[in-house]
Amino acid sequence: MRPFTHTISLAEALARMREVTRPIERTAVVAVPEAAWRVVATDVVATRDVPPFDRAAMDGYAVRASDTAGATRDRPAMLTCVGVVFSGEAWTGHLGQGECVEIATGAPVPDGADAVVMVEHTAPAGAADGGGPAVSPSDPWRGAAAVGTRVAVFGPVPPRQHVASRGADIGTGQVVLRRGDHLTPARLGAAAALGVTHLEVFEPTRVFIASTGDELVDTGGLARAAQIYDVNRTTLPPIVALHGGVPLVHPVVGDTLAELRAALDAARDADLVVVSGGSSVGNRDLLVDVVAERGDILFHGIAVKPGKPTLLARLGSQLLLGLPGNPTSCLSNAYLLLVPLLRALARLPQLVPQTRRVPLLRTIVSPGDRHQFYTVRLEDGHAVAAFKGSGDITSMAGADGYIEIPAGTDRIEAGATVDVVLF
Ligand code: AMP
Ligand code: MG
Repeated sequence: MRPFTHTISLAEALARMREVTRPIERTAVVAVPEAAWRVVATDVVATRDVPPFDRAAMDGYAVRASDTAGATRDRPAMLTCVGVVFSGEAWTGHLGQGECVEIATGAPVPDGADAVVMVEHTAPAGAADGGGPAVSPSDPWRGAAAVGTRVAVFGPVPPRQHVASRGADIGTGQVVLRRGDHLTPARLGAAAALGVTHLEVFEPTRVFIASTGDELVDTGGLARAAQIYDVNRTTLPPIVALHGGVPLVHPVVGDTLAELRAALDAARDADLVVVSGGSSVGNRDLLVDVVAERGDILFHGIAVKPGKPTLLARLGSQLLLGLPGNPTSCLSNAYLLLVPLLRALARLPQLVPQTRRVPLLRTIVSPGDRHQFYTVRLEDGHAVAAFKGSGDITSMAGADGYIEIPAGTDRIEAGATVDVVLF
């Protein structure tokens, strides 16, 4: 045994990690739908206007604003409908004085018109005059005026009203996406509006994942006496996949120098190596020895519970994160350290923790020697203890989040308000 002589705070561990993190530089060109949630590598400059023409933003009539000046409900402007234009069509005529064209939302505003009046502010001449076509409640006026119909407009229409000008959304030459932008659906939509089909994005982080321990068996395998199923190779890959990485999952690694060395050899092409187990100070915890042969250890031992036996190392251009084997310690530190690391490597924006401020249902007693991440679940507006032990995956599986208990605090009373950080 080689006990931890020195541990650092989580904040210090995160700072050291940030200092050595080099975001991925490799890029690939992918079709826009595949670019969702990734990070764009080159600026996208608009090569056309959006919308590409002045278009109606309402269903109604395209008019000349000046024709409607002074119109009121009692003294409407009377216009002659000279055409109909639906979206996807273009009315090729020229709108003259005293004329209107029935228009659908999204259709190009005809030449000569400079405003659109909503159909709700109009009526066919007969309805306005008290004669003409009947307007019954079951067949409301929907603006379907036949060409030649007189249309009453019940108020003045300012110029450009309900007209989305060409280029108002995106103008030619505008930078629509910038290198480093996270490709949310809205940003992909902006690319789609321009007709862009492919984007250059940063490649995902290649993350090698290995579990170490002579006692571990693949789930589905036969567990002999003294053996247990490997949990961490099930919990870690989805975290990697969610935060910009491709998990490269390796078979179980035994607790020998030779097997650990072989695993690191196999990890050669990865950007990040995540090893669980064997990161502590037992005689068969050999990870730190093998890592020290190949690179610099940036820290080993964090003053948190669970999750103290955690190490970070730099092996050439590769980072290695050694997590504790205990499934809850492993997963807890995956949330605290691996997620921010993955997001920085993949250039994704860091997550802002979601918290709930609620009263604690029952008193929690904690050893108080290390900063503790204590899992809880939310029940009827209260935080309820979920933490059992670092080795128990149900400490996490039965939890919605955690509360932080600083070192030196050994008790939180029932009823105290706590901030639950949600997973
Ligand atoms: P270690 O970090 O190797 O000292 O392991 C600490 C504890 O976690 C031991 O009880 C191990 O059997 C257990 N353990 C280690 N790795 C795993 C794993 N991948 N899945 C489940 N339990 C594990
Ligand atoms: Mg072990």
